[in-house]
Amino acid sequence: MKSVSTIKIRTSSRSDMVDITSQVRQIVSESGISDGVCIVFVPHTTAGITINEGADPNVCTDILGKLNDLVPRDGRFLHMEGNSDSHVKASLVGSSVSVIVEKGSLVLGTWQKIFFCEFDGPRSRRIYLTI
Ligand code: ZN
Repeated sequence: MKSVSTIKIRTSSRSDMVDITSQVRQIVSESGISDGVCIVFVPHTTAGITINEGADPNVCTDILGKLNDLVPRDGRFLHMEGNSDSHVKASLVGSSVSVIVEKGSLVLGTWQKIFFCEFDGPRSRRIYLTI
């Protein structure tokens, strides 16, 4: 296995949470590594990564809605690119998660999924993984 694997995605709206759990599971499975820690990292300043409930899509809708309430796009910012809210949301969510790998499988809770969080899309994005 390469030391770093890449997942490429294309987001379809300005704000979105994309379930990447199956892609992460596949890379872990193909790595042949039985036990360790999988780090999932986003190399972007206006996107993040998080783990939360994947069963009810309203959870993601609520998270994105509440982030918009907390950090409105038309708020007062100094950064001139027009995406200051995206930078703040990315820092609130964070740029990586770590998941335990046991017997070649991700150790996640029953309802947990790994989500790429887009805050300044639509764009082509990359996600890096290492185990
Ligand atoms: Zn910016």
